[in-house]
Amino acid sequence: MEKQAKTYDVVIIGGGAAGLSAAQALGRARRSVLVVDAGEPRNAPADKMHNYLSRDGMNPLDLLAAGRAELAKYGVDIVADRATDSRRTDTGFAVSLARNPEVSARRIILAGGLKDRMPEIDGLAEHWGHDLLHCPYCHGWEVKDRRLGILDSAFSVHQALMFTQWSKDITLFKSRDRELGSEELEQLEARGVVVIEADIAAVRGAAGSIRGVQLSDGTEYPLDALVLMPRVEVDLSGVASLGLRASEHPTGVGQCVEVDAMGQSAVPGLWVAGSLADPKQQVIMAAASGLGVGAAVNADLTREETERDVAELRLQRAAL
Ligand SMILES: Cc1cc2nc3c(=O)[nH]c(=O)nc-3n(C[C@H](O)[C@H](O)[C@H](O)COP(=O)(O)OP(=O)(O)OC[C@H]3O[C@@H](n4cnc5c(N)ncnc54)[C@H](O)[C@@H]3O)c2cc1C
Repeated sequence: MEKQAKTYDVVIIGGGAAGLSAAQALGRARRSVLVVDAGEPRNAPADKMHNYLSRDGMNPLDLLAAGRAELAKYGVDIVADRATDSRRTDTGFAVSLARNPEVSARRIILAGGLKDRMPEIDGLAEHWGHDLLHCPYCHGWEVKDRRLGILDSAFSVHQALMFTQWSKDITLFKSRDRELGSEELEQLEARGVVVIEADIAAVRGAAGSIRGVQLSDGTEYPLDALVLMPRVEVDLSGVASLGLRASEHPTGVGQCVEVDAMGQSAVPGLWVAGSLADPKQQVIMAAASGLGVGAAVNADLTREETERDVAELRLQRAAL
């Protein structure tokens, strides 16, 4: 006889701030919950996390370890694994895992986060999360008054202007393919940003101790940190067969998944929490999103159970 897949009220794919917060809401609501986590949160390269009130400067992985420890008392199961696909069943969903047996769930919350895609520049990737930054609120304070280089992207003018709040020594490297409007150039000049039209050939220095960049004409340009808005992409392989689609975020930052105000996706029963639905989310926002979606899923399950119980009650009354 085929072994029955273990059944949960909710399987949460992704155990970052969003997934673990959803699990806490659901565990405390006495729901059976499994969190499947591949263990690659977006901010893992950074040693410290900022702008999470009461946890400022904490290592991001320590925050998640503390979250996982809290979930134990609510009976939440957590497995270090990757969801490889999900399919619909009579009772909800079956979720396939890379290294463990398939599990069943009445609802799925996808909280898989985003992937950052770096431009191909020699030596660039190893600096990500150390002295290659994207967000002034996450790490602007740590590079205040330093020599900052803004790398070319659709957001580079915005980033250059924003970072003038943290440093007055800012150089924007504009690729030859990108035209800046006269208004943008005027704003940059007014804020003291130096604009250089050049492609970057390589980043010099080790992670955490950048020396500068080498331009494509061979010139070395000394800097203390770089700023880049990479394109973000989503990985929906954990729910591939359910037909969930990625969309382009209206800001042009990359991909995301569209959801309604409660976190319900276009696929009935499949909910989405955290940065996957809103790329601008920082950790505390992803945690809040997870709490909201966890509560919404509990309400949805209670609605379904109430409908079932009302139908049963009516049958009992009719039989009298
Ligand atoms: C370099 C860097 C530094 C940052 N610093 C800060 C900061 O200082 N402060 C701040 O507030 N924000 C910071 N952020 C933003 C922060 O990373 C995000 O806000 C946060 O990670 C979003 O949480 P999340 O739960 O949505 O996704 P994530 O934290 O990315 O978690 C998603 C989890 O889902 C897992 N997963 C994905 N697919 C699957 C699958 N199929 N099966 C199983 N598991 C899966 C991933 O492995 C990962 O563990 C930083 C971002 C970057 C890139």
